Amino acid sequence: MRMQSFTSRVLAWYVAHGRKELPWQRDREPYAIWVSEIMLQQTQVTTVIPYYQRFMQRFPKLLDLANADLDEVLHHWSGLGYYARARNLHAAAQQVRDGFDGQFPERFEDVQSLPGIGRSTAGAILSFAMNQPHPILDGNVKRVLARHFAVEGWPGQSAVLKRLWELSDALTSETNPAAYNQGMMDLGAMICRRGLPNCAECPLQSSCQAHAEGREKVLPTPKPRKKLPIKSSYLLVLRDQHDAVLLERRPLMGVWGGLWSLPECPMDADPMTWCREKLAYEPLDMMRLPQRRHTFSHYHFEMLPLEIAVNNPSNRVMDEGVRVWYKLSDPDTRGLAAPVARILNEIEISSTGENG
Ligand code: SF4
Repeated sequence: MRMQSFTSRVLAWYVAHGRKELPWQRDREPYAIWVSEIMLQQTQVTTVIPYYQRFMQRFPKLLDLANADLDEVLHHWSGLGYYARARNLHAAAQQVRDGFDGQFPERFEDVQSLPGIGRSTAGAILSFAMNQPHPILDGNVKRVLARHFAVEGWPGQSAVLKRLWELSDALTSETNPAAYNQGMMDLGAMICRRGLPNCAECPLQSSCQAHAEGREKVLPTPKPRKKLPIKSSYLLVLRDQHDAVLLERRPLMGVWGGLWSLPECPMDADPMTWCREKLAYEPLDMMRLPQRRHTFSHYHFEMLPLEIAVNNPSNRVMDEGVRVWYKLSDPDTRGLAAPVARILNEIEISSTGENG
C-alpha cells in the first residue's frame, strides 16, 4: 500500500512541478535523450543545456556523430570534463551505425551493451524515449530513496547499492515510467537536494524516515574521505617565430585521453635541457607563467607552465596525429584539455594586448 502511495505521490508532484520543457524532452528522440543522459551523468542540468545545444547543432542525428572525427567530438565536449563520456558516446554511435543499421536499439540488453551506458542510463533512455518500465538509480534518485527509507551506508558499497536498486525497481511506475523517473530525478534535484532538503515542500514528507528521525542531512552516508595525492609537472609552452605553440596529443587511455595538451616535463628535469633533448628544439628564452591546479577524481595536478621561445625550422617533418604547431591567432576545432585551453587563451590575450 505504501509502495503504491509513494509512486502515485511522485507522479502527482511531477505533473504539478516537474521539468517538462528541457531541450531533450521536446520530441522524445532516443538519440537526443541518450546524449543528454550522458552529459548529465556528472554535470547539472543548467550547465549541460548550452553544451547540449551546441553539440546537437553540430551533430543533429546519430549518424552525424558516428561519422564525425573524434577530435571534433572532443572539441564540442571541451569544458564538460570526464572525456571518457565523449569517447564512449562516439564509439557507441559507431556501434549503432554498424550493428543496428543506424537505429537506436529498443531492447534493454542491446542498449546496455553500448560503451558508456550502464543500467541506470539504459533505463533512463528507454523509459524517457519509449516509456518502457525500467528503474533508474542516478545520484538524485539514490539520495531520495536513501533518505526516505533511511538506508544506511555509502551507496558505492555493493550491498547498499543492491538495496537501493531493489527499492527503485519495486517503486517504478508500470504505467507511466517516463513521468515517474523524471519526477524522481527532479525531486532529488529540486526538493531533496544534497545539502539542503526542502522537506516542507516534499510530497514524500509524511512517510520519510530520515525526516521523521531528523537525519535528512546525514543520509545518504557520504563516501569515506581519502586525501588525494598531488602530482606536479612543468607544462612547456613552446612558442615559435610564427606565434604557434607546440601541442601533443594525449594517449587515448588515461586523463585527458585523446585531447591535445602541452608537453609535460618532469619536475626533477631541467626544462631547457629536456626541451632540447626530448623535443629536439633549441630553447632561446624561458619565462614562468602563473602556477595552477586541476583536480581529477584521483589526484590533484599542479601545473607549472613555462613559456619557452624556440626556433622552428620550416623543413621539420612531424607526425600530425601526435604533434602539431597550433596557431594561436587562428585556432582550429581540435579538442583541447580545458586548463590548456585557458593557458593558451591567456597567452593570446597578453600577446594581443602587447602588440595592440
Ligand atoms: Fe528528502 Fe525531506 Fe522529502 Fe525526505 S522529506 S524525501 S529528506 S525532501
